[in-house]
Amino acid sequence: MRGKLKIADAISSTNPIAVGDKVNMMIEDETHSSGIITEILARENYIVRSSPHNRFQKHIIAANLDLAVLVATIKDPRTSQGFIDRFLVTAEAYHIPALIIFNKSDKHIGKVIESWQNKKTLLEKIGYPTLTISAITQEGIPDLKEILKDKTSLFSGHSGVGKSSLINLLIPKYNLRVGEISDWSGKGQHTTTFAEMFDLPFGGRIIDTPGIKELGIVDFEKEDLAHYFPEMKALIHDCKFNNCVHENEPGCAVKKAMEAGDISIDRYESYLNMLDNL
Ligand code: GDP
Ligand code: ZN
Repeated sequence: MRGKLKIADAISSTNPIAVGDKVNMMIEDETHSSGIITEILARENYIVRSSPHNRFQKHIIAANLDLAVLVATIKDPRTSQGFIDRFLVTAEAYHIPALIIFNKSDKHIGKVIESWQNKKTLLEKIGYPTLTISAITQEGIPDLKEILKDKTSLFSGHSGVGKSSLINLLIPKYNLRVGEISDWSGKGQHTTTFAEMFDLPFGGRIIDTPGIKELGIVDFEKEDLAHYFPEMKALIHDCKFNNCVHENEPGCAVKKAMEAGDISIDRYESYLNMLDNL
C-alpha cells in the first residue's frame, strides 16, 4: 500500500484495507507481478468486529458483500432461533441481503422434519429466503450454486454445521479441513487473518471468516432495534408512543401483533434478549 492512501470512507478502524475492498493500483513492473495500491474505493457495505487488541476499536472483517449466508442445522448441532435472529438483525443493520441455509437435510427424519418446516415457514413468512441442502447427499447444491453465481457471499455458522464441507464441495481445490477447529493455522500459531476470499469455479466469490462465530457487531439505540426485525418495523408507527421499545408500554402495536399470533413468540423473545443486551 502506498503510504499516503486515498480512502473514500472516513471510518476509524484498525485496518485500512479489508477482504472484499475494491482498489485502484499501479502495476510496478512489466511482469505484472507486483504493484502498489493507491486508492481504496467507497465501500457499498462492510461488517466490523471489535479489534482483538482493543475492544473499543473497530476492525473491518469484509467489504462489498452481495449476500450473507448463514449455514444452520436443525439437529447435530441445533442452531437456535436466537442465533439465527442475531445474524439476521446484523445483516439488516449492515444492509446485506441474507440467506439461511439448512444443511444436513439427510438428517431430517421424524420429529426433525417438523422443526425444520416450522423454522422454514417462520423465516419465509418474514421475507427471508431459505434453502435446504445436504453436503453429504448433495441435495440442493445445484440451487445453491445458482444463487451464489457471480455474487460475493459471506459464509457464517457455528462450528459443526458443515460450513467447511460445503465450501469444499463448492471449491474442490481448496480442501478446507473438515471437523477441525478452523481458527488454528496448523503451524502451531494462531492465524491473524479474520476473513479469506475464495473464487468460485462457476463465477462469484465466497468469503469465509474462520473462528468468527457471529456476523459482526453493530451499535444502535434500544429504540432502533425493532427496525431490524422487518415484521416489527412494519408496525412501529402504530404504537402509541414514538419511543416505544415494545416491552411493556401501553398501546404497543408490536406486542398486540405478537399476542394475536401475527408475530412469532420466538422472534419476539429474541428481540427482548437483544434489547436486554443493548
Ligand atoms: P464446520 O465446523 O461448520 O466447518 O463443519 P464441518 O464441515 O467440519 O462438518 C462437521 C461435521 O458434520 C463433519 O463430521 C461433517 O462430515 C458433517 N457434515 C457436514 N455436512 C453434512 C451433511 O450434510 N450431512 C451430514 N449428515 N453430516 C454432515
Ligand atoms: Zn411498541
